[in-house]
Amino acid sequence: MRMVDLIAKKRDGYPLTAKEIQFIVNGCTTESIPDYQLSAWAMAVCLRGMEAKETAYLTRAMAASGDKLIWDMPGRVVVDKHSTGGVGDKTSLILAPLVAACGVPVAKMSGRGLGHTGGTIDKLLSIPGFEAVLSEDRFRRQVQEVGAAIVAQSDRLAPADKRLYSLRDVTATVESVPLIASSVMSKKIAAGAQGIVLDVKYGAGAFMSTQEQAKSLAEAMVAIGKNLGRETVAVLSAMDEPLGCAVGNRIEVLEAIDVLRGQGPADLREACLDLGAQMLRVGRGIDDTQRGRALLETTLASGAAWRKFEELVEAQSGDLTAFFAGRGIEKSRRPGSLLKQTYASPVTGRITWLDARQIGLAAMVLGAGREMRTSEIDPDAGILLHHKRGQTVAAGEPLLTMLSRQPKKIAEAQRILATAVKIES
Ligand code: URA
Repeated sequence: MRMVDLIAKKRDGYPLTAKEIQFIVNGCTTESIPDYQLSAWAMAVCLRGMEAKETAYLTRAMAASGDKLIWDMPGRVVVDKHSTGGVGDKTSLILAPLVAACGVPVAKMSGRGLGHTGGTIDKLLSIPGFEAVLSEDRFRRQVQEVGAAIVAQSDRLAPADKRLYSLRDVTATVESVPLIASSVMSKKIAAGAQGIVLDVKYGAGAFMSTQEQAKSLAEAMVAIGKNLGRETVAVLSAMDEPLGCAVGNRIEVLEAIDVLRGQGPADLREACLDLGAQMLRVGRGIDDTQRGRALLETTLASGAAWRKFEELVEAQSGDLTAFFAGRGIEKSRRPGSLLKQTYASPVTGRITWLDARQIGLAAMVLGAGREMRTSEIDPDAGILLHHKRGQTVAAGEPLLTMLSRQPKKIAEAQRILATAVKIES
């Protein structure tokens, strides 16, 4: 078999066989197929698409390209949750302990942020001492003993996807339903959870700009999950404005803690109740989502979810006392003082648009995210929103506060933010 023939076959719109896809995935894993051929093939898939069968072959082959975890907890369904990426999305920090406190084991594999979207692991690493890379043994023990763990995706899990995704990232071939579906699901399948809840985002700050695109992505992923014997459900959610009010690493952990302690922004709490009810459905067979939501609310109100978060952080060597001691932004742990600059509303009126992508980009420029894979993150940097869409502001009233150690970056973020907010006077 020759890779050039498979690229041509896909370029001309023909479906590939299971053997042909296996050949590509093997060549991707062993690096016998060079970057330029894999990239050309990814572009052909982007333009020509894939049949459901081909997407399933690709997922299966990528899932089998490295280690596979097997969870053996008799009588219990281990659940994982995955978001397709957003701004201010700290739901995993809340859901892992919350759902675990409701009796469902959560084995959460998370990524780091790239570009305008944040990553759960970067957020957790703002807690001094927190260990995100656990051995398989320790990960397994923690899920059994604590009920929840949030770990960085190991390099040995779906390595074919790792290589393909890093090429797609720089060849404008991310935005393809079969490629995203197989990429996400290959990692979920390899991570072994028996129940998978997918949060598929659409809108200004998401990979899928329309609800229709998100729906086809969700359908493709659910079909793959079911086909491979995993109970899989998907929730579609809008990502036009950031979720909650905090966009940055440390400030997002603080906001997640607020929700775990029974407070926090209404939209964030609501998103957690929606997704949590699905996790309880998959993990505990609670099909009535109202019942599921009621259990989640009681668990939040009782303090059990917050205590589970403390347990999870402690099990992963994080020091919450030190984290809280640095709560005042002046007491930062990094060299150079943290600057705090408000961005005021130029007019009086109603906020009609808060662009998640632009706000995510501005937060990244301030130091909260990575422009490149090698960029360093400032855990204290970010943006705090003082208002959400639909609210009214007066001229001169602070709309948001930027946190950064670099004055030049504040000026750059301010330029980005000028196009992120629309106010109708
Ligand atoms: N997240 C992934 O893991 N893969 C994609 O292709 C897109 C988002």
